[in-house]
Amino acid sequence: MAQETPNTETLEFRTEVQQLLNILAHSLYTEREIFLRELISNASDALHRIQFELLTDRAGVDPDAPLEIRIDWDEDARTLTVTDTGIGMTREELIENLGTIAHSGALAFMQRMAEGQRPADIIGQFGVGFYSVFMVADEVTVTTRAYRPDAEAWRWVSRGDSRFTLAPSDKTSRGTTIELKLKEDAAEFTSRWRLERIVKKHSDFVSFPVYVKDTVANQQTALWRKPLGEVTEEEYADFYRQLSLDPAEPLLHIHVVTDAPVDLRSILYVPRKLDRGVLNMRADYGVKLYSKKVLIQEFSKDLLPEHLRFVEGVVDSEDIPLNISRETVQSNRLMRQIQKVLTGRVLKALRELADERPEEYMGFWNEFGVFFKQGIASQGGENADLLPLLRFQSSKSDGKPASLAEYVGRMAEGQSDIYYILGSDLASVAGSPHLDACRARDLEVFYLADPFDGFMMQGLREFEGKPFRNVDDPSLELPGTPRETPPAEAAITGAELAGLFARCKLVLGDRITEVRESQALVDSPARLVSANAGFDRDLQRVRRLLEQDYKIPPKILELNGRHRLVRNLAGLVAAQPAAAMIDPAIELLFDNLLLVEGLHPNPAGMAPRIQALLEQATK
Ligand code: ADP
Ligand code: MG
Repeated sequence: MAQETPNTETLEFRTEVQQLLNILAHSLYTEREIFLRELISNASDALHRIQFELLTDRAGVDPDAPLEIRIDWDEDARTLTVTDTGIGMTREELIENLGTIAHSGALAFMQRMAEGQRPADIIGQFGVGFYSVFMVADEVTVTTRAYRPDAEAWRWVSRGDSRFTLAPSDKTSRGTTIELKLKEDAAEFTSRWRLERIVKKHSDFVSFPVYVKDTVANQQTALWRKPLGEVTEEEYADFYRQLSLDPAEPLLHIHVVTDAPVDLRSILYVPRKLDRGVLNMRADYGVKLYSKKVLIQEFSKDLLPEHLRFVEGVVDSEDIPLNISRETVQSNRLMRQIQKVLTGRVLKALRELADERPEEYMGFWNEFGVFFKQGIASQGGENADLLPLLRFQSSKSDGKPASLAEYVGRMAEGQSDIYYILGSDLASVAGSPHLDACRARDLEVFYLADPFDGFMMQGLREFEGKPFRNVDDPSLELPGTPRETPPAEAAITGAELAGLFARCKLVLGDRITEVRESQALVDSPARLVSANAGFDRDLQRVRRLLEQDYKIPPKILELNGRHRLVRNLAGLVAAQPAAAMIDPAIELLFDNLLLVEGLHPNPAGMAPRIQALLEQATK
């Protein structure tokens, strides 16, 4: 271990860091080179932060030092150093940033590794990138001095075991030096050629010069400032990879260059997958905001609406004043203009994708559609730009989700509403009794079987002037005439039917509000309709998922007076009211309705009732 002075203290890593280090130090990875990418990325972050600080405060250490990263090595001693003139760290920051992990990144990272992901692909996403140095080093020394004039310099040393030490250092210049004592089998990282290659491959777009000894190895181009048409597909993809640490290619890139109404240079990316760890695990989401090449905000959330928060990228505008404080970014009128332009461009690109490559669009929809559903729910009526992007299965879409425009294009004569049904899965929705009346009139119904759909309906009122209507609405009036319905078989009287209704109410008690004859049912014996119509009831499923104690309010039981089952049962109630079969049959009919609605509180509770009925039937 590096020499210990009397001032050296020894501290313990947090448990999950210890576990992580253990895994990193004792495994062999083919892509160990990414440790350099992580060190450069941290150095670049530190440089961006001091650059921003220096805009307003030049009283700190070395205000005129060039902003740069230097890589140096000693082949004989097998050491490698990465030095930056960035913001540096105080003693507290060293402990906090390199000894404990504030968020759950380490645990999440280890879980991903256990699931078989390659560490090189994912380590940068979890806020644990620094520790990748222990894949190549036996010992790491971080010497750092923060920029504040009164800050002291510190030295942090660890061998990647359970502990690290801290001691004062005599470093006088601002920034951080990270020295690696390379493992015996990592001598390759003292080769100039190898180091230059690694920098070029992983850190080409870092906006500060990265020196490999005396030569700058990265091109530092602000790709987004290049004219449209001068950036190759490969450059777009490389930049995405370096920016997002997503090993996959992006689905779309959108390069925006405008001078009016605002000066704007931006490259935005739509990823292919939601679960790249990024949204859940990375410290934060948002696009990088630059002004005149200075990074103003690392994770800007005000440049795109929330439902586009999966978009990655860089936004640069010369119109944004450099001295804008991070707080006022939000309230800035200019920012709203930028948001408008960017949102328009992203949605336009997605609409084009949907038109030109519908299958790829469906891949996108399956991953990110839920964001748009949230967007629709939270934006109230302001959602016209999202509507063309929605896709749902329907009773006529043949298993292939349809757009609202397709639905409208094949609406029946006289149809002025868009019909939908909510449920918990496609199969039970497709067999729902609520569809009877629409089926009999050959009307198409959207199947909304995703838990978020009910939530979305809070903001989805109409499309091209055509209101959305839930088919479980008891007051629904449908256009057209139904096809011939089968003639009723067993002859029963109105009084017998009324007797069955009364019996149902007696058996089901408070679980239903009333029993009545249905005007809508054709092929099904019964259905449940909401006592209180309105969009609130679309929320019931969502609330049941989110709120533990939430109980669906009781519904109205509607019976089909023409259906054989109902007529048989009514006949039985009239002729032998004491028959043992009646009550279990009513219970099971009700069970079935809850099941198709996806609202059954306890499906396993059906077993004894089914058994009781079987006993009766086989007697
Ligand atoms: P992340 O970069 O995702 O936050 P890392 O494990 O790479 O996670 O780094 C942890 C933290 O250590 C950084 O967030 C930063 O605060 C601090 N840090 C690492 N390297 C440097 C550096 N060269 N200069 C200043 N701070 C650094
Ligand atoms: Mg990092």
